[in-house]
Amino acid sequence: MKLFCDLHLHSCLSPCGDEENTVGNLVGMAKLNGLDAIALTDHNTAGNCRSAWTIGRQMDLVVVPGMELTTAEDIHVVCLFPDPDAAEAFGAEVRKNWTEIPNRPDIFGRQILLDERDEPAGEEPLLLTVATAIPAERALPLAMSFGGTAFPAHVDKEANSMAAVLGSVPKEYGFAAVELSKGAGRAAEDFYLCEGYKVVRSSDAHYLWQLSEADFALELPERSAAAIVKYFLPEGRENP
Ligand SMILES: [Zn+2]
Ligand SMILES: [Zn+2]
Repeated sequence: MKLFCDLHLHSCLSPCGDEENTVGNLVGMAKLNGLDAIALTDHNTAGNCRSAWTIGRQMDLVVVPGMELTTAEDIHVVCLFPDPDAAEAFGAEVRKNWTEIPNRPDIFGRQILLDERDEPAGEEPLLLTVATAIPAERALPLAMSFGGTAFPAHVDKEANSMAAVLGSVPKEYGFAAVELSKGAGRAAEDFYLCEGYKVVRSSDAHYLWQLSEADFALELPERSAAAIVKYFLPEGRENP
């Protein structure tokens, strides 16, 4: 079956994410836009994933619990998990590798945690957009060890992209896919960086109006977060 997806979204937990980007609003906007599945990928945290998952279930939208990991090299990698337990366990591991700098909400923006009714439940005090101590080559094996998968984010961009920082997406890192930003033209798929990779197009929405319309789809055997994770695993690999 064909699932229209937007697999890279930020909630109000990301300091750069708009405060209107509650998980309820993200799910609602995704439904309006005709999407079947979204992934919540806040910077270095899965803190709002369980609430997004619950609200997604209530509104019949597939929510993939995820994270946009900032590696030690300042590269962004999208990590996706089959359920909130896996995402939160991965999140706890990533937290051990945070660089602990207090957030300055007046400068960077608030980092708002939401409960399963989409109400504010607190704020993350440490700044989430700082590089972690996890090297890029560890991103995929680490995500897989928690039942998930990973791929480099917005490889067509200059800022925080693996291609810009390392000059390529090294084959030995094992990724099955690369993400192109919404603004990348169709020609970008022929870009040498994408050669041999599945290509995923996502909005990286920090504001509700940036969410994708139904224009990127995956062909999957079932309508679930687990099926989406499996699609992005390296060939011949399965998670436990
Ligand atoms: Zn990014
Ligand atoms: Zn992002």
